[in-house]
Amino acid sequence: MEIEGVPCTSCSLLCDDIVVDVRDNTVTRVLGTCSHGTKRFKELVGARPMKAAIAEQGGLKEVSVDEALEKAAEILKVAKKPLIYGGANSTNRTVELLVKLAQKLRGLYDSSASICHALLDLDPSFLGARLDDILEDADFILYWGADPAETHLRHASRYAVFPRGRSTPMGRESRIVAVVDVRETNTMRIAQHKVLLRPGSDAELARALRDLMFSKTPTVGEAAGVTLRDLSSIIKDLKPATYVAMFIGRGLLQSEKPEEALSSMAELARSLLELGKKVSIMPMAEYVNSMGQALITKKLGGAPRALDFSALKEHMSPEATATCQLEREGVDAALIVKSEVSEELTPLAVKALMRIPTIVLEERATWTFSNGKVSVPLSIMGVESGGTVTRMDGVEVKLKPFLKPPASVADEEVFLERLSSSL
Ligand code: SF4
Repeated sequence: MEIEGVPCTSCSLLCDDIVVDVRDNTVTRVLGTCSHGTKRFKELVGARPMKAAIAEQGGLKEVSVDEALEKAAEILKVAKKPLIYGGANSTNRTVELLVKLAQKLRGLYDSSASICHALLDLDPSFLGARLDDILEDADFILYWGADPAETHLRHASRYAVFPRGRSTPMGRESRIVAVVDVRETNTMRIAQHKVLLRPGSDAELARALRDLMFSKTPTVGEAAGVTLRDLSSIIKDLKPATYVAMFIGRGLLQSEKPEEALSSMAELARSLLELGKKVSIMPMAEYVNSMGQALITKKLGGAPRALDFSALKEHMSPEATATCQLEREGVDAALIVKSEVSEELTPLAVKALMRIPTIVLEERATWTFSNGKVSVPLSIMGVESGGTVTRMDGVEVKLKPFLKPPASVADEEVFLERLSSSL
């Protein structure tokens, strides 16, 4: 059976033009995906964990999903302050359930660090653009600290660079592309401007570009490690542009002062607006639902970041992060949903996590899954289970599952609803 218009859940671009051929509950052919998407559709089912388990003194004991749920509830009931962690790889409903669970248990809610968290604090006048607007009208594309040729493979071909749009009738020929990074990247191959800046000098570069837009020449022959000649060449192309679309990637979070860099970039965007251009700033959301996780957390908790519900009044503080609380032994149990903590938390925080009872819900065979006190395998989102997720530009996408999951795995939303009502 051929199924059309299937959204791919391998990255936050959520391409919804995929065609899948299914025979005997097996994917036989996938059309339209990039290599990352094909891998998810074709290989994940065969490589996923199949059985729920509880770690006991003698080793792992395989259990049913119901038994795992009972044990998970037992752990969370006695915890004084549990950590509820995840959401960036889950559905919007799951994010909502996780935040509400943390609230109910007076625990801490957090998820993997994301550029979406930082960008949602910016002036809303730069946010809110849609990828389809960019396809139609953007004639200057600026990738900053982002390398979609590695992370979001169809970003340039489907939306930002190659397609022909209303104001860009020649497609690639109608657009200028600039890529800013601290190292040479694959995306630079399609750029007219390859900007290799000195690490940690993003703010300096944004200020220099703004000054040059207003004809203020720097007193020295370079800024942020970029020559005045190269900067002037960017400005020459930026001046006639009518719509500047900025895509900010995770690289910016790794700069020394990300807040200062972002505010200088917002200043640059404001200056371009004053000159009559249309400007948008969009995060290259790292995980499939990083944007949904950030938006829902902001809606329910007031800010798109970690929320500490054990505090009576203020539940946002710099110390209210999973890493900080684990390192200080401030949490005594954890529920981790579809997050590889060995990649997202510090080694010290991971060590602390291994000392407390941990419930892990996962669709992939990860290190975190194999180290949970209670491990629950999940149906694969967008393949075996449905729901709604949010694309990097804020558009909600309804998933279209096409395989029947095995009876031994759980649906993330159903499991969390049941867990919450048993507490
Ligand atoms: S770009 Fe992302 S959403 Fe699109 S097919 Fe590739 S992995 Fe899937």
